[in-house]
Amino acid sequence: MTATSTPIGDPMPRWDLTGLFGPTPDGHEALDAEQSLRLAVFHLQELYDRHDVHARTNGTGTGAAAADQVAAFDEVLTTTNQVLEQFLRLNAYAYAHVTANAGNDPAQQLLSRLQAVDAELSTLRTRFEAWVDAVGAGDLVRLSDVARDHAWALHKGARRAVHLMSEPEEGLAAALGITGATAWTRLYDDVTAGITATVEHADGREEALPIFAVRGLATSPDHDVREAAYRAELVAWDDHATPIAAALNAIKGETLTVDRRRGWDDPLDPVLEANAIDRRTLDTMNAAVDDVLDDFRRYLFVKAEMLGKGQCTWFDLAAPVGEVRALHWAEAVELVGDAFAGYSPDLAGVLGRALDEWWIDAGPRRGKVGGAFCLPVGGGASRVLMNYDGSIDAMHTIAHELGHAFHNQTLRHRTPVQRSTPRPLAETASTFCETILTDQLLARATSDAVRLAVLEASLHEACQLIVDIRSRFLFETRLFERRRTSTVGVAELCALMDMAQAEAYGEALDPSARHPYMWAAKPHYYSSTFYNWPYTFGLLFGLGLYARWREDPERFRPRYEALLASTGLAPALDLAAGFGIDLHDPGFWRASLDVIRVRIDDYATAAAAFTTPSP
Ligand SMILES: [Zn+2]
Repeated sequence: MTATSTPIGDPMPRWDLTGLFGPTPDGHEALDAEQSLRLAVFHLQELYDRHDVHARTNGTGTGAAAADQVAAFDEVLTTTNQVLEQFLRLNAYAYAHVTANAGNDPAQQLLSRLQAVDAELSTLRTRFEAWVDAVGAGDLVRLSDVARDHAWALHKGARRAVHLMSEPEEGLAAALGITGATAWTRLYDDVTAGITATVEHADGREEALPIFAVRGLATSPDHDVREAAYRAELVAWDDHATPIAAALNAIKGETLTVDRRRGWDDPLDPVLEANAIDRRTLDTMNAAVDDVLDDFRRYLFVKAEMLGKGQCTWFDLAAPVGEVRALHWAEAVELVGDAFAGYSPDLAGVLGRALDEWWIDAGPRRGKVGGAFCLPVGGGASRVLMNYDGSIDAMHTIAHELGHAFHNQTLRHRTPVQRSTPRPLAETASTFCETILTDQLLARATSDAVRLAVLEASLHEACQLIVDIRSRFLFETRLFERRRTSTVGVAELCALMDMAQAEAYGEALDPSARHPYMWAAKPHYYSSTFYNWPYTFGLLFGLGLYARWREDPERFRPRYEALLASTGLAPALDLAAGFGIDLHDPGFWRASLDVIRVRIDDYATAAAAFTTPSP
């Protein structure tokens, strides 16, 4: 059985982008919107010039200076928000078209032109933050209502301004970034969207599939299919490793160069600042993660035993166990809908709206990017891309991405600057929704076999978010260390990845069957720095909040929605404190991980009661 031949829904729903800016990115509506955006950016630049929005060498940050500037400040921030709103909607439209079909040239061209607009806006943002820092963020917040509504963003921007290069240098970096890291990222996307891997089936049949469809076969119940897909994948990555490694080296090299010029020595520091997480919180979380690795190894050994092995290989990690049957799209959507309805009608309502208004592009296709994402498109609405393959994991993805859509809806009355959410909090609603789904499925499980399959899906996900992300964090830390002195070749990238997986998975993963090309397979390395750990944070924070919900559902719901609506207004440490959670307390993280430890115990018990049929 392969994912592509599974009757999971034919045809799979495709999203409707027409309502945003017309049917095609080179149509009148989109071109008019682009022209209107360009004009708005031009006027915004004039406004910045007229009010002399720059860092001031004589800036004193006194109340008197700020008082003179309040009217100008209000106009500048309000107009900036309006232009950002225009940009974000059109950019989402172009991005959605490109990711759904890499061969859509008009969309590629529109996205490319918008990247130039983005660079101009980024330059203005830099000027704005330097200006706020010079005038005095604290004084502005005291004197202006508009500033008060954006207080946290202003203070954050002012802190960022301390690490800015000179204005012309920042402008040059933003402009060169289009032909630098941004171009490398697009190369990565375009190359990987076009990669085909040839799977050699046990019966001698050869099947050429897009690489991300082959990666989807990792969840096949058939051992031979998984192994064939794994081997085909490694060959395909190896064949395309040179341009991908060039992209990785260029992107990480540019990060180091620009960071250094901005006065950041450790590339993790600006990431922590941007994510609004202090190092003590990250260290406390990572220490708790290191403590739970042995429990995950226990889970993987039980899993290996059920698969008839002494040790898991890479292509066993995502193998389903227990009672497995491909879920039809409509069935998966109904189960997610029931789970959401068990939390609140509002949450279920978002799923209903997503289906009624065609927000979701569900199935895998050649030319479509892998993975899944949720894109806000304005007015609290979203568009969701996924590669649904009928597995329980894929059903989790529906819950996850719709969690983002719910979050987008709670943010609908915020300005773009207020909506800007650090990633650790951006993953709260998504992981919370997945936890709701798991609980609902466990409650409905009618046999050990089903129970086992549900626990497996949940633990596999947790293993990814905790153990695998630990390996990615170790890999990226060392990649940056190595990249400081020279470029890093394909063989060394593979060796670094192999070592990181050895440390995170330990003896539970067969050393001869790890995945040394995960640096090529994961798109995040190509668009972001230390992208993944906020997902670990999101999972553990979401589990902590989930425990609070179970204690007192009625009181929890409005406070939780208020938290989601405030994710751009305060740091996680403060928002957590509102729920009586101290992120510096190892006990909080341990309690969240204990939820997973209990699931591992349940898994071992269910496994003992269940005899696995031979593969
Ligand atoms: Zn997410």
